[in-house]
Amino acid sequence: MTHMNNTAQREQMSIVIAGHVDHGKSTVMGRLLADTGSLPMGKLDQVRALCERNSKPFEYAFLLDALKDEMSQGITIDAARVFFKTAQRDYLILDAPGHIEFLKNMITGASRAEAALLVIDAEEGVRENSRRHGYMLSLLGVRQLAVVVNKMDLVEYSESAFNAIAENYTAFLKEVGVEARFIIPASGRFGDNIAQPGGNMAWYTGPTVLEALDRFEKEPPALDQPLRLPVQDVYKFTKAGDKRRLVVGTVDSGIVEVGDELVFFPSGKRSRVASIEAFNRPSLTRAGAGEATALTLDEQIYVTRGELACRASEPAPKVATRVRASLFWMGREPLQVGREYLLKMGGARTPVWVEKILRVIDASDLSVSQESDRVERHAVAECILRTRRAVAFDPAEDNARTSRFVIVDQYEIRGGGILREALEDEYEAVRSHVLLRNMKWETSRISRERRAEKYNQRPTLILVTGERNTGKKTFAKALESRLFEEGKVVYFLGIGNVLYGVDADIKVAGQGGDRGEHLRRLAEVAHLLLDAGVLLVVTAVNLKRVELDLIETTVGEDRMVVVWMGGEAPSDVACDLRLDSTYPLDDQVDKMKAVLQEKNIIFKPF
Ligand code: GDP
Repeated sequence: MTHMNNTAQREQMSIVIAGHVDHGKSTVMGRLLADTGSLPMGKLDQVRALCERNSKPFEYAFLLDALKDEMSQGITIDAARVFFKTAQRDYLILDAPGHIEFLKNMITGASRAEAALLVIDAEEGVRENSRRHGYMLSLLGVRQLAVVVNKMDLVEYSESAFNAIAENYTAFLKEVGVEARFIIPASGRFGDNIAQPGGNMAWYTGPTVLEALDRFEKEPPALDQPLRLPVQDVYKFTKAGDKRRLVVGTVDSGIVEVGDELVFFPSGKRSRVASIEAFNRPSLTRAGAGEATALTLDEQIYVTRGELACRASEPAPKVATRVRASLFWMGREPLQVGREYLLKMGGARTPVWVEKILRVIDASDLSVSQESDRVERHAVAECILRTRRAVAFDPAEDNARTSRFVIVDQYEIRGGGILREALEDEYEAVRSHVLLRNMKWETSRISRERRAEKYNQRPTLILVTGERNTGKKTFAKALESRLFEEGKVVYFLGIGNVLYGVDADIKVAGQGGDRGEHLRRLAEVAHLLLDAGVLLVVTAVNLKRVELDLIETTVGEDRMVVVWMGGEAPSDVACDLRLDSTYPLDDQVDKMKAVLQEKNIIFKPF
């Protein structure tokens, strides 16, 4: 819920703890809890007694297991979280047992760490994961880092052993562009330099782990940056006649105020903030970075989850379907060029594939390889990504928050990273026309929903394509007639009907004409008719994947149904229905109607 700047509230900081397995993360966390008196009453004695009964030596790490067990009975946790307080502030420590959990938490913002503790075993020294985690922190923009050289007791508290590790690791961090604020020799087991100074290391005069945490600076909420508010959900008011929408999300950066003119990206739709609602409290006049907000708008534009709300007066984010990204891959199967995955960022999700791998970097030794068609597990790569739908983002250098993404395959997060640059693609011109058209759009007083209610249909472009002479027009006209007779508001538009009128100033495609421009205009005409609430049936020969993408870019997402007539459709053309003109026309129309009903475009009779 809304995070208020209540003066009574103590400062909070989230820290992520990372490190190679067995280097002592849990022990250090257990110690921190025990030595700051943050454990539940009697927990320490209880765990000690349990160890004794099982004749096991007591471990501080067990404290954490005991807490995890307790927690997981109540709620499911994907990463261990522990809380403790110092005089200065409250800490939330996130254990990152694996890369995936770490990444998930960092990117979804469930608990975005502001600083990190990286644990390295003094005896084992720097291992692959020590480096990988360091690299991931740098990619994710975590700039405050303390390195804990743990298990100093195993190297007789030797200053030279400590220095060797410190030097080695500092050199690595330097290469990835991070600097450790503190490097602390410690022993989790014996408590040296965790919460109390270590009597065994008089040569060390720096802070303990606890002091280091307190010396980290609180990241100021990004209020002075442009507004970035990813839309998480849009709710309707339930009261009859109330047409307002509630646009809900947590402000990533900047400030939003009542009266602000907002632009939603990637659609480019605009509206003014009418109110900022608060749960069980009077409305607010403004909300800032870090706050959960619910806005109502002046004009009831159609926006959906996944858009990024920005202020019209501030610099716009990038909108692209072709982007340069740095990503780490953690899937067992390598990331493959051309294969389709799902990209998630903010509330947005879209199919994505790698167009090209620019370079692959082994995150543990930073060696660069020329592998060009795949990224193996645990590697970091710089790639060109293509997204099916445009994404709105800021390059990582400008705003780390709105540059982060994850890649999902088969419902699991397999990788993630940051977007660095918007690149040109073939839809660039089309998209900028659409963006401008949406920004300039004069909204009618009749909302999209109202029209849909009245006409009892969801306006949709039914694109009938396929090879020449396969009966596309015959079918399209039959469909139009049937729907019309059944009371639908429907219109048949042959591509030729646009050719000699709307397109009179451009050459005919095939005679040196620009097919792309013809299609763009056809799609703009379709967009107008869809806005008017119509079911539009359009025929066009042999539409290719890129052309369908172009049309979808123009008419908007989720407003198009593709029918392929005769033969096999090309493998990359996703059609909703395949028809064969050798079957009776009526049957074909029935099939089409079933698809429209299934998609809730028209409704089944009761
Ligand atoms: P994690 O996998 O990083 O969470 O590591 P644990 O905290 O579970 O520790 C792994 C092993 O190292 C356990 O057996 C601990 O007892 C041991 N260990 C952790 N810290 C120290 C330390 O400071 N000194 C010694 N000697 N052993 C330690």
